[in-house]
Amino acid sequence: MLSYRHSFHAGNHADVVKHIVEMLIIENLTQKEKGFYYLDTHSGVGRYRLFSQESEKTAEFEEGIARLWQRDDLPEEVQRYVDLIKKLNYGGKELRYYAGSPLIAAQMLRPQDRGLLVELHPTDFPLLRNNFKEFKNISVKRDDGFQQVKATLPPKERRGLVLMDPPYEMKEDYDLVVNTIVEGYKRFATGVYAVWYPVVLRQQSKRIVKGLEASGIRKILQIELAVRPDSDQRGMTASGMIVINPPWQLEAQMKKILPYLTNVLVPEGTGSWSVNWIAPE
Ligand code: SAM
Repeated sequence: MLSYRHSFHAGNHADVVKHIVEMLIIENLTQKEKGFYYLDTHSGVGRYRLFSQESEKTAEFEEGIARLWQRDDLPEEVQRYVDLIKKLNYGGKELRYYAGSPLIAAQMLRPQDRGLLVELHPTDFPLLRNNFKEFKNISVKRDDGFQQVKATLPPKERRGLVLMDPPYEMKEDYDLVVNTIVEGYKRFATGVYAVWYPVVLRQQSKRIVKGLEASGIRKILQIELAVRPDSDQRGMTASGMIVINPPWQLEAQMKKILPYLTNVLVPEGTGSWSVNWIAPE
């Protein structure tokens, strides 16, 4: 089943938090001269037109990136993220395009770094390939992203970030994420792993937390922004990132910026945020 298309959701509040966390991790990796490996297991197409039929239909970006676009009081980390998106918008007057996770990374990778973008969807894969053909140190592959974790770790650089962002269309994805991290970690225990998760039904995202707790892996940070309290009705009420081996600054950075993001992205006042260790060092 491959019915999920990220173009309906690009730039929403979940993308904002996901891509800020991704940016902060990559900023940390680029502090050392030595190159690193970036693996995007579920890439999407990499670049989104916000005035496409799909985006306009849901208009989710209006409650995400659009709420940050004109602000002049952004915390510095959020400013750097908005600046990355402004670069795609000819300096940033009008918000027309949004970067997917591969393009956030591609803008930050240096010549000594290497990226692999994996996407399975038969329609999205050619779009992804086309969007990244100019990037010399980035390759694309049509495959199951979970398989590529096993197939490509450990990277020759011995440094890297694995971003795992499945659509969770199938309930098995919750367990697959945990199993794939355990497999990846066996091969590459010093890598950074960042997993996105939605909260639709809280017990589903808890499967990931419980699975990781049981794995014995240490240094697991959970970052979450909720737009509404948990509910058993349809729809995503919150989303988050689980980061294994996070850069040491990430906890403090997110504790600083999440109160701001919660206020600005959820002006209705129903939002909340959290940063917790699933397993400390
Ligand atoms: N990471 C992207 C971003 O932040 O811009 C968004 C990714 S979207 C949430 C999930 C993507 O995974 C979809 O494009 C979907 O087609 C793709 N997909 C679904 N199952 C997959 C699999 N097993 N392997 C690789 N890609 C898959």
